[in-house]
Amino acid sequence: MTNKKKKDIRSYDLPRLTDYFSTIGAKPFHAKQLYNWLWVKGCSSFDAMTNLSTEVRQILNKQFSIEKAIPYQTVSSKDGTIKVQFRFHDEVMAEGVLIPSGKRMTACISSQAGCALGCKFCATGDLGFIRNLSNAEIIDQVHHLNALAEKHYEHHLTNIVFMGMGEPLLNYDAVVEAVNIITDPSIIGMSPKRITISTVGITQAIEKLADDLPTVKLAISLHSADNDLRNYLIPVNKKYDLHQLTEALQRYHRKTGNRISIEYLLLNNINDTRNDAELLTEWTKSFPVKINLIPYNPVPGKNFTTSSNIDDFKSRLENKNLVVNVRVSRGNDINAACGQLINRNKK
Ligand code: SAH
Ligand code: SF4
Repeated sequence: MTNKKKKDIRSYDLPRLTDYFSTIGAKPFHAKQLYNWLWVKGCSSFDAMTNLSTEVRQILNKQFSIEKAIPYQTVSSKDGTIKVQFRFHDEVMAEGVLIPSGKRMTACISSQAGCALGCKFCATGDLGFIRNLSNAEIIDQVHHLNALAEKHYEHHLTNIVFMGMGEPLLNYDAVVEAVNIITDPSIIGMSPKRITISTVGITQAIEKLADDLPTVKLAISLHSADNDLRNYLIPVNKKYDLHQLTEALQRYHRKTGNRISIEYLLLNNINDTRNDAELLTEWTKSFPVKINLIPYNPVPGKNFTTSSNIDDFKSRLENKNLVVNVRVSRGNDINAACGQLINRNKK
C-alpha cells in the first residue's frame, strides 16, 4: 500500500534530488542514477534500483514513495487498439490508448481526469473535472503504453497525442514538464515533432506554447468556424472566441512557422453543410493548416449522429486546395475512440 504521508520522489527534479542526496551523504551521480531509474526506466520500487547502496535505498524507502499509476483494466479491440484504464494513488482514474497502425505506434494519453469544459458532444465532458494529472502520471501512461507496444507489436512508441481525457492547456505546467522529459535525449528522447497537443483553444496558453514547446505539433479542435455554433458546441468558446483564437494562432504561426492541424468533428446536419465548409475555408486563410475530419463516435445519451455528408464536405475543402484527411476511427468496440473515454468500468 502507498503510504500517503510520504512524498512522491518524482515531484523532485534533478537539481533538487542532487541537493537532497548531499544531505544524506550520497554522491551527486547517485542522484542521476535514481533519476534514470525513475524517468528512463519508469521503475516503481527503490529496492529494484540495484546500483544504489542498500543504505541509500533504506533511507529512500523510509522517506519517499513512488506513486506509480497502476494499469487497473486493459481491453483490446479487434482492430488492435488497446485501452488502459489507469488508477492513480488516490484512486482517481484516467485512460490511455495504444493505437497501432502499420509501423506507427501512437499513444493517446490523458492530461486530466475528467474535463471542466463540457463540450456538448464529448463523453469526457460529462464527467466534469476531477483533477489535473501530474507530469509523472502523464509519463506513467507513456511508459506503460510503450511496454504494451513492445510486448504486443515488438515496436516502441513512435507518436504521442494528447487527445485522451482532459484539456492539456488547462494543465499547462505538468504537460510541458512531461513533454520536456519525453523529449530529453538523455531520458526518453522522442522527437517533439512526433508529439501532438490537442486543444479547444485556450488562447494565452497557445501563445506560451510557441515559446516553451515550439516544435511540438499543435492541433485545434475547431468543429465550427461559426462563432454562435461554436459557442453552443464548445461552451468555452464564449471566453476565448473565434476571433481571439484566430489572432492567437496567427501569432503562434509567426513565431514557430508551424502548420496547424485543425480537428473538425462532423456532426450530421449540425456543422457539415456547404455553408459550414465555406466558413471553414474562409477561416483557414490566416495560417497554413492541415484539416482532419473526424467522423463522430456516438456517445450514448447524446443526440448527435455521424455525418452522412463526409465525402462532399471533404471535396469542397479539397477544391479550395486545402490538405484534408478523414480520420479513421479506432477502438469503437471498446469505447476507446475519440471522445468516448469516461471510465465506464469505474467501481
Ligand atoms: N480537450 C482536448 C483534447 C482531448 S479531446 C480537445 O478537445 O482538443 C480529443 C479530440 O476528440 C478532440 O478533437 C475532440 O473534439 C474529439 N472528440 C470529442 N468527442 C468526440 C466524439 N464523440 N467523437 C469523435 N471525436 C470526439
Ligand atoms: Fe474536454 Fe476536449 Fe472533451 Fe471538450 S472535447 S469536453 S475540451 S476533453
